[in-house]
Amino acid sequence: MTKHIFVTGGVVSSLGKGLTSASIGMLLERRGLRVKMQKLDPYLNVDPGTMSPYQHGEVYVLDDGSETDLDLGHYERFTNSPLTRDSNYTTGQIYLSVIEKERRGEFLGKTVQVIPHVTNEIKAVIHKMADESTDVVITEIGGTVGDIESQPFLEAIRQFSLDVGKENCLYVHLTLVPYLKAAGELKTKPTQHSVGQLRQIGIQPDLLICRTERSISLEDREKIALFCNVPSQAVIEEKDKDFSIYEVPLSLVDNGLDEWIVKKLQLGSSTLDLKDWRNLLHRLRNPKHEISIAVVGKYAEHFDAYKSIYEALDHAGIEREAQVRIGRVRSEEIEREGPKRLLTGCDGVLVPGGFGERGIEGKIEAIRFARERNVPFFGICLGMQCAVIEFARHVLGLPGAHSSEFDKNTEHPVICLLDEQRNVIDKGGTMRLGAQPTVLDDSSRAAACYRQREVSERHRHRYEFNSEYRQQFASGGMRIAGASDGGKLVEIVEVADHPWFVAVQFHPEFKSKPTAAHPLFSGFIQAAIERRVSRAAHSAEVPS
Ligand code: GLN
Repeated sequence: MTKHIFVTGGVVSSLGKGLTSASIGMLLERRGLRVKMQKLDPYLNVDPGTMSPYQHGEVYVLDDGSETDLDLGHYERFTNSPLTRDSNYTTGQIYLSVIEKERRGEFLGKTVQVIPHVTNEIKAVIHKMADESTDVVITEIGGTVGDIESQPFLEAIRQFSLDVGKENCLYVHLTLVPYLKAAGELKTKPTQHSVGQLRQIGIQPDLLICRTERSISLEDREKIALFCNVPSQAVIEEKDKDFSIYEVPLSLVDNGLDEWIVKKLQLGSSTLDLKDWRNLLHRLRNPKHEISIAVVGKYAEHFDAYKSIYEALDHAGIEREAQVRIGRVRSEEIEREGPKRLLTGCDGVLVPGGFGERGIEGKIEAIRFARERNVPFFGICLGMQCAVIEFARHVLGLPGAHSSEFDKNTEHPVICLLDEQRNVIDKGGTMRLGAQPTVLDDSSRAAACYRQREVSERHRHRYEFNSEYRQQFASGGMRIAGASDGGKLVEIVEVADHPWFVAVQFHPEFKSKPTAAHPLFSGFIQAAIERRVSRAAHSAEVPS
């Protein structure tokens, strides 16, 4: 019988429910259990694919092409749970499906209502996750208890334990225990209220995870336990981690989280094995190098917009024993003051994916700076397209070269709409999405990083390298290092005459893990380390 863990959040949003859910999944896996992760989001968009990064942060893409919440990125980085379209549902998707059934007449003339029709639909998507090959399903409910939007989801998970048996479900509630400076103490009242709200709708949490800046005293723990109706061992402290998010699972273990879950759900499990995780933290704490990477993007100031990119840079740093200092540079700032002040001194430049014209010229300037000064450069999706435009304008001498996404009438559309996109009108879920194979050129830098001829990477785009210009680029010094669809679609370009200039149409950041860095990110970080080392050696030679 598959067991279910439901994770809800209270008091405030942004408590790190995704990270905590992922940590729970990771700890159970390291006790030998087979885990599946799922997130239910209470907003009305059918998926986050049409939402602005300001609203939602990055859109995380899965192999099967679904555009999902960024918390699924945490799930993939922390666990081996297979993720598919079924791993992320929104209120929009749930209602869409109920309404389509109603139109097909499936409700046989009944009045269609939130209870039971919407809640049944929600329960069905949770049931779908359970099968013989899964010991535990972890379902995270987005939003905060008390939100109007969350209510059908909470009602559904309440009913769920009636359907499958109380002993097969565990309710975990993540709350905040704030420290009040004026009073000089931690405050437990918000947690009491949040649990009170859950209990009002019929959910008694089995486990409380309390986010806090300071350690929770035994006295406070007992107080929370008493008021929230749980044993005090079920009050788990999750103290803020300034150093790294990868410390979170270890501190949860120290506070007895996995022990309690295994006991409560009566899961037969092996002993916890965290060797590789401890090893990665050791490497993170003892770097041999320090490098700085400038990430030049439209949303540089917004941390969640390029979440997986920042993570993937860290993973490569862990593997190569380098502390990676990330400089978040707004491309519009480069437009205003030029790249010199903002990029001088960095050991690598990365331009990530994106949409829309704002900041494009700044990205192109940043790429020119990296190319001309031999600074390692990594372009991803729009970053690759900008690298192609830059090369066309400044090396091939094609003035005004552009992407037809930004200039419909450009004389040189070196980036143009994919054929398959010509008749697409709807914006949601219609890009070229998900895993596609790429065949690499044997002599390319990318092939040297991957040590493979064929790779599979995830995509999310409508525009592509315009194949009519292939010959011109090749003779000018930009080589096609990888292509898909029988060689038709350009997936990777490289500047051969440069220490490390690689730009890819896909999103390698989605497949990087802390315990297995992505080969291209590793190659990029290695090139940045080499640049740093050679610059240091050079400056040591110059007498002061
Ligand atoms: N806007 C570009 C396109 O649609 C790039 C997309 C991206 O960077 N994800 O092709």
